[in-house]
Amino acid sequence: MRSKYKQKMKGEGQACRICATPVRMHEHSRGWRPKRGQTYYFLKWLRCPNPTCGEQYNLEEYKRLVKNWQQDQKEMKRLIVEQKTEQLLDKWRIR
Ligand SMILES: [Zn+2]
Repeated sequence: MRSKYKQKMKGEGQACRICATPVRMHEHSRGWRPKRGQTYYFLKWLRCPNPTCGEQYNLEEYKRLVKNWQQDQKEMKRLIVEQKTEQLLDKWRIR
């Protein structure tokens, strides 16, 4: 009957399965590192903003293996460098 509560949690704004509050996307702050002994982590996850609920929903597509952590970090840094380079190029084109 209540099929909407059985829907897979995919993104922001979906109703929390417990209290129906629209959920929000969260990600790790800068400098976050996986704990020792952890084998996997999530790049992003959904959390219910209702303080009396606070249910957390992990997203399979953002699941990453900790053994690839260093590689993921390098990827992130490379992306940031590329972004900065593009920003500089944009600046130079304007001036
Ligand atoms: Zn909730």
